[in-house]
Amino acid sequence: MKVFEGLRAFIWRDNRANNCNAYLIEGSKRILVDPGHRDFFDHVHQGLSKLKVSRDQIDVVLVTHGHPDHLEMASNFKAPTLVGMGEEEYHFTKENYAFHYKVPEPDFLLREGDLTIGDVSLRIILTPGHSPGSVCIYWPLKKALFTGDVVFSQGIGRTDLLGGNGSLLKESIKRLAALDVEYLLPGHGEMLSGRESVKANFKMIEDFWFNYL
Ligand SMILES: [Zn+2]
Repeated sequence: MKVFEGLRAFIWRDNRANNCNAYLIEGSKRILVDPGHRDFFDHVHQGLSKLKVSRDQIDVVLVTHGHPDHLEMASNFKAPTLVGMGEEEYHFTKENYAFHYKVPEPDFLLREGDLTIGDVSLRIILTPGHSPGSVCIYWPLKKALFTGDVVFSQGIGRTDLLGGNGSLLKESIKRLAALDVEYLLPGHGEMLSGRESVKANFKMIEDFWFNYL
């Protein structure tokens, strides 16, 4: 579905299997955020087909973190598509998960700070807690925030997986809450739009979920 001019969302709504939401930024380059599980790429594939975009017309794949429901399909993208993931997350994932699923060799590593791809300027924000090197991606021009598994509508990411850390997650969420966000684009569940709804969601998380971190 179209979120706004220049952004499509492929929301995963099948409760029988776990997979993530994927997002397509359509600037002068096409950027796919979190391609998801290899076996469940069909919903993205169908969405791309409707747009008449083939897989190798994706210029860049960005991955928020190394869990297979976000990352696995990234291994299937080859040149000319470039794959980027967090630097620390790459090393952690390779060390700990390479025996379980194929970890891609990224073409570039994401670090805190600005990332310009074609005419789209993004900001990479390091948000450890759900996983040690997780990143969120902020698109200042559109006030859009891709949160991976850090923040959801009505919830937060798990901290009980390998490398999870509740106090780091709390700090990460506080940083995100300080941003000016019109569109909260989480890795699972529904999106949120409207500054007031996004603010209310952060407030609910701080009032309720922070007690458990
Ligand atoms: Zn995750």
